[in-house]
Amino acid sequence: MPLGSERSSSPFRLYRAAVEGSVEYAGPGVCAFCRTATDGRLALGVGAYVIYRCTMCEQSFAAGAAGHDRRVKTCPRCGTAEDGYRLGDDPATCYPCLRSGRAALTKDTEFGMVTWSDAVQGRTHGVPELTRTQPGFSLADPHPDGWVAVNIPPFVLLELVRTPTYRTYQGEEWLFCCATTMLYGGRWTKSDFVHHAPADPEAVLIEVFEGAQPWMWNQVPDDPQYDTGWGFYAFRCELCNRIRGHFDMT
Ligand SMILES: [Zn+2]
Ligand SMILES: [Zn+2]
Ligand SMILES: [Zn+2]
Repeated sequence: MPLGSERSSSPFRLYRAAVEGSVEYAGPGVCAFCRTATDGRLALGVGAYVIYRCTMCEQSFAAGAAGHDRRVKTCPRCGTAEDGYRLGDDPATCYPCLRSGRAALTKDTEFGMVTWSDAVQGRTHGVPELTRTQPGFSLADPHPDGWVAVNIPPFVLLELVRTPTYRTYQGEEWLFCCATTMLYGGRWTKSDFVHHAPADPEAVLIEVFEGAQPWMWNQVPDDPQYDTGWGFYAFRCELCNRIRGHFDMT
């Protein structure tokens, strides 16, 4: 069963809340890649990458979107020079161009940061001293500095970096279940808890949001317009329907 807050249709499979509420949402305008005028675009700012594909050897490689210029980009495999995109001021991508992989948006997850290059290599950037992960994933050998990456298939992580980022106070933390990414269902208000468990909505807080305490119920907003300074971010697993979440505060 979908989450109460979940949208049945979304341009992004993993992002089931209103894309207008995402960190990158930039409103209507022209896509930096396909030059199509569109109703909704996503800003290519810090943490965004432009993805090039070598015309000679077809190797894909990334260049940071911030401060991006037309200077020639060199294929790291064969050295072929490619013209840089002219992205313009305040560049933004349409949804189809992001989905098709012309850009990538860095994400933070419960197993560490994922840039485009991490995604292609099939691992997260890692977490210090991580000792266990979930069934279906394995830990990489620890780096000398103690950071431990989690091995996750490239196709799973590439879809994640081709998804908008949800807005939080302290930073997103995308969750996983059943060896894949969970679907982001939005910020929960009290009615979402009630929808999920009418008999005992307060128990859901403890069950779903790791580390939550019973007194935090008073911090759950009554409706999306009411800002308590606390955010409760909910995810659903498409495979087993499990719901998990995390919370933060200003
Ligand atoms: Zn486009
Ligand atoms: Zn090449
Ligand atoms: Zn699951």
